[in-house]
Amino acid sequence: MNIQDLIRPTIKALKPYSSARDEFQGNSDDMVFLDANENPFENGVNRYPDPQQRTVKSLLSEIKGIPVKNILLGNGSDEVLDLIFRAFCEPNQDNIITLPPTYGMYSVLANINAVEIKRVQLDDDFQPKVDTILNEADTKSKLLFLCSPNNPTGNSFEAIAIEKLIKEFKGIVVIDEAYIDFSNEESWVSRLNEFPNLIVTQTLSKAYGMAGIRLGICFASEAIISVLNRIKPPYNVNELTQQKAILQLEQNELTKQQVLDILQARDVLISKLNLVDFIFKIYPTDANFVLVKVDDATKRYNQLIEKGIVIRNRTTQPGCENCLRFTIGTPEENKILIDTLNSI
Ligand SMILES: *Cc1c(COP(=O)(O)O)cnc(C)c1O
Repeated sequence: MNIQDLIRPTIKALKPYSSARDEFQGNSDDMVFLDANENPFENGVNRYPDPQQRTVKSLLSEIKGIPVKNILLGNGSDEVLDLIFRAFCEPNQDNIITLPPTYGMYSVLANINAVEIKRVQLDDDFQPKVDTILNEADTKSKLLFLCSPNNPTGNSFEAIAIEKLIKEFKGIVVIDEAYIDFSNEESWVSRLNEFPNLIVTQTLSKAYGMAGIRLGICFASEAIISVLNRIKPPYNVNELTQQKAILQLEQNELTKQQVLDILQARDVLISKLNLVDFIFKIYPTDANFVLVKVDDATKRYNQLIEKGIVIRNRTTQPGCENCLRFTIGTPEENKILIDTLNSI
């Protein structure tokens, strides 16, 4: 497969904006920077940020074991996903494939970009129907989104199914690994070299505890990273975000411990949810949330809201009738949830 054939002609022909900091990247204190019309008085953010986020990327490269040249960062995964649409999907012409029930942003971004959506519902175990997906795909199917572990179901997709899809789908396969750090499954980033049409996205919003700074990560071949670099806004990751990400990534042991704590709290929560009389089913989860089936999701959702507890009602999602999604909180928050569930 030639990735160049999948890129939109407009994007291939694009001459990217060259910013002042792109043209010359110096970092020595004794240089004089009069190139970007900045205010020269120091306050920590008076300079434009590094457009290539080199320090953040080198820390991520070390943590994830992936070379910097295979990494692109965005203002949240949402921006990364939007860049992928704009690189590969011709408006009013191309289509994408999503596998509901899944993360809502894929279809929102498709709608924003005027790209048709083909939906192939997951099977009863929330696994992809591989042959149906491949049959549904046509020559205009440019992107296939696999969310694993999947939101809102929590399960990971079987590796054999994912591998077959990457090998046989004739467009780009995007594996959204927002929850991979909570899972025992291996990340697909380790197999980027095998598959030129593979993009893996991750985020600092969940396990890394930095939803507020908006930092999304894209791992892919150099060919794909360079296309996305051409269309990203030059300074898409702001200075405060980069500074905070660097501080946090330098103490990665803390993140690892928090993930272990969340997983332990998840086990405790699940054992207690098992005893709630209107919860009929607790779905297996590889993420920091758990999906449960109840007698009447909307009634239970409203009862919890009245008690000041906000969860997610997923009952309108295909395959998720009467399902609620609980995020794992602190042990104290989880106890409040359980006590409240037992009192309503
Ligand atoms: C939370 C989540 C994200 C994260 O998006 P950000 O824009 O990076 O905060 C991405 N994908 C899925 C499936 C999610 O649930």
